Amino acid sequence: MEDVVIAGAGPNGLMLACELALAGVRPVVLEQLPEPSLMPRANGLVGQVVRLLDRRGLHERLAGPIGPPVPAFVFGAMRLDLTLTEPNPLNILPVPQRRIEAALGERAAELGVEVRRGHALTGLTQDDEQVTLEVAGPDGPYELTTRYVVGADGGKSVTRKLAGIGFPGVTEDRTISYSASATVPAEMIDAETGGLRVPGHGVIPPLFHYRTEHGLFIYAPLPTGTGVTAIEWADDDDEDDDRPVTLDEVRASVRRVLGFDLPIGPPEGDGPHLLRRLRGRNTRLADRFRAGRVLLVGDAAHVHSAIGGPGLNLGLQDAAGLGWKLAAEIRGWAPEGLLDTYEAERRPVAERVVMHTQAQSALIAPGGEVTALRELFGELLRQPSTVQHIADLMSGADVRYEPGTDHPLDGRWAPDLLLDNGVRLAELTRTARPLLLDLTPAACLGDELRGWTDRVDAVTGKAVPEATALLVRPDGYVAWATSAAEPGDAERKALRAALERWFGTLVDM
Ligand SMILES: Cc1cc2nc3c(=O)[nH]c(=O)nc-3n(C[C@H](O)[C@H](O)[C@H](O)COP(=O)(O)OP(=O)(O)OC[C@H]3O[C@@H](n4cnc5c(N)ncnc54)[C@H](O)[C@@H]3O)c2cc1C
Repeated sequence: MEDVVIAGAGPNGLMLACELALAGVRPVVLEQLPEPSLMPRANGLVGQVVRLLDRRGLHERLAGPIGPPVPAFVFGAMRLDLTLTEPNPLNILPVPQRRIEAALGERAAELGVEVRRGHALTGLTQDDEQVTLEVAGPDGPYELTTRYVVGADGGKSVTRKLAGIGFPGVTEDRTISYSASATVPAEMIDAETGGLRVPGHGVIPPLFHYRTEHGLFIYAPLPTGTGVTAIEWADDDDEDDDRPVTLDEVRASVRRVLGFDLPIGPPEGDGPHLLRRLRGRNTRLADRFRAGRVLLVGDAAHVHSAIGGPGLNLGLQDAAGLGWKLAAEIRGWAPEGLLDTYEAERRPVAERVVMHTQAQSALIAPGGEVTALRELFGELLRQPSTVQHIADLMSGADVRYEPGTDHPLDGRWAPDLLLDNGVRLAELTRTARPLLLDLTPAACLGDELRGWTDRVDAVTGKAVPEATALLVRPDGYVAWATSAAEPGDAERKALRAALERWFGTLVDM
């Protein structure tokens, strides 16, 4: 019997596979496609997930050392001036999804994960002991038994349906979006900003979401090729969405949005090239993230508009949140209820993403009332506290899991500490093991770990301004913290409580 089977080798399934393998559990990944999809999706990662990849050494693989946060971003097609924030929480990693998937696939292979391509999950039954899966493989159907199965099989998740988990929400069909890889005349490009000079509109900055009374336009000069996107409000319910998209159709949509005939030409280079029409958007949240031995991560658990690019910030952190807890369950040291904290922690985060993507969609809608709302919102965005609030929301820096103490770091994403020997916290978390950072002057907390050393590592060093000691979970969140130079009985007791709460009861040595 397998310990864990993951359905879906998209980014979230592969990330979960890596997290499980780091925690000592080797899952089997079933992927229906014989080869990775070349269909362009995400253009990059936005938010705390960039720091998560740094903590696993994956950022370096994809783009070298992590850089500083970005000075500006967009929210609901409005500019966010992030120089007004302190701290600025918004990192981005502008790497296409297929490269992220390739890096995760490579890492999973290094960690010994078996990915079965061309194998689709088709059936599922479970009892108290196991799950029996029906799989359609290249050599015909077969059965597989496993202790747990995780659906990472995207928004149309078969796993979710087979487990009887509902997916309530709304399907909005008022919008129609056209995206194409294309070329634009060189003379229209503004040498100073790299933006697009459009008569009647000035310079539209690169990657900016530019709203008009008729829709939204995005000009995206990416290293992988130039893309244009036009989003309009559809009034053509009778259109046949199955017919192939043409560049002329994209041109016509851009004309309707900008009121200008943008002379876009066919793309250069080998591709893969994007030419896509998408109608409407789904906003849905699974009614449970767990049904017995079946769990969901990523798009299988939640779908929403891609505006602002929050999908993988949410999904890859779901995978990091679930991986160590599921591994603990399988390895036998999980405290009672640990696995259920996955949904308790991640559902509220998904709800906030649903909220802000819907809010952004409202802010880009046409109409005079929306224009008035945007004017007011623009005034609010001149206030640093508003920008900070939105930047924290978009990055996920405002997430706080239920703390065990009142230390301000408890329950929060551990800050990117730099220790006195020049080592960054991110470099200590590559193995994804729980970590006690004992930065007290006398390194006096080591004894408290007696009994947990098989599963919790300890590192000592000089105190940093943020804290004198931190217990960091594998997913990067703080499980306990103190700022006392010499933690007393109460703090030590709280540390032991945190160790038991997250890493199980004391093992006799
Ligand atoms: C146009 C667009 C732009 C986007 N831009 C961004 C962005 O800029 N930033 C961002 O963070 N996110 C973005 N997203 C969202 C992001 O692409 C998704 O959140 C992400 O792909 C979800 O990953 P996943 O692993 O959960 O699911 P998926 O990527 O959908 O992967 C699911 C996998 O499961 C496989 N599968 C399905 N059924 C079965 C089965 N029965 N058996 C076995 N395998 C199965 C599929 O073949 C697939 O490989 C964008 C999405 C779109 C559509």
